[in-house]
Amino acid sequence: MDYFEPKTIREAVSLLARYGEKAKVIAGGTDVLVDMKFKEEPSCLVNIKRIPALSYIREDDGFLRVGTLTPIREIETSSLVRQKLPLLWEAAHQFASLQIRNTATIGGNVCRASPSGEMLAPLLVLEASAVARFSRGEKKLPFGELFLGPGQTLLGSKGLLTEIEIALPPERSGSVYLKHAVRGAMDIAMVGVAVLLTPDAGGKKAKDVRIGLGAVAPTPIRAKSAEKALRGKAMARAVVEEAARRAAADAKPITDHRASAEYRRWIVEALTRKGLAQAWKAATGKEVDR
Ligand SMILES: Cc1cc2nc3c(=O)[nH]c(=O)nc-3n(C[C@H](O)[C@H](O)[C@H](O)COP(=O)(O)OP(=O)(O)OC[C@H]3O[C@@H](n4cnc5c(N)ncnc54)[C@H](O)[C@@H]3O)c2cc1C
Repeated sequence: MDYFEPKTIREAVSLLARYGEKAKVIAGGTDVLVDMKFKEEPSCLVNIKRIPALSYIREDDGFLRVGTLTPIREIETSSLVRQKLPLLWEAAHQFASLQIRNTATIGGNVCRASPSGEMLAPLLVLEASAVARFSRGEKKLPFGELFLGPGQTLLGSKGLLTEIEIALPPERSGSVYLKHAVRGAMDIAMVGVAVLLTPDAGGKKAKDVRIGLGAVAPTPIRAKSAEKALRGKAMARAVVEEAARRAAADAKPITDHRASAEYRRWIVEALTRKGLAQAWKAATGKEVDR
């Protein structure tokens, strides 16, 4: 196996262009090393950990920018993230064990493109973009288009993710990430639900609602018909119940060793109902009307 430790983004990108599908990027290695042990070894490994310019969290003109090599633990301990993007903080906080959070990177989680990847549903509702470098230059790929299927993204084998760009949500919005797993944070999500809700100026209606679902389709998805059922409506219990039912119908789960499709839909409905109530309370300080 050929092994490289590029020192610059340009060097890494030219290695990916040269080796194409034979090359595998390794960041924290918490997915790659497990695959190498239990599945197959790539013929070329490109370790990007020696590129110092790829680990940072910074606020910049209405955006939070997170470098691809930023460990999940740094996101969890960042006061900037906790204050400006509590949704991302919550997802980082519920991510695996401390040891894994210290090693796993945000970029590795995104590029792994696992339907149950913890950071994906939150980044989808935050309408983040993936900034990637190719040998032909830089591209900004919206999260709504980034995922093609399990393990597949628009980056293909030649793109290097460098940054996640996230527009800061309105200050009066409320958000929540709920993960359902048998062993809590130590387990891969059976279902993940991310909600971002912005009330109208009067604090009675939902002006903007975004609901992201993880582990219930080949890629993370937005529960579009549930969002539509809420947008512009007064936040009453019957409206929330209807939205939760629609979210369950928006999900396209499979049955596997973790849970049946039917059980996953039921959890989506329960978590969406709970998530909407919590996000509304976080935004307005009020309970959903009866
Ligand atoms: C015990 C254990 C528990 C886990 N628990 C969770 C959990 O609770 N939630 C969860 O979401 N995940 C979990 N995972 C999965 C894993 O930790 C995450 O997916 C992690 O974020 C991967 O990051 P990494 O830096 O280790 O990626 P790596 O393993 O280095 O890479 C992952 C993939 O991304 C590609 N890649 C990495 N960086 C780039 C880049 N900059 N550009 C292009 N491609 C890139 C690699 O080629 C590879 O395909 C767990 C894993 C283990 C072993």
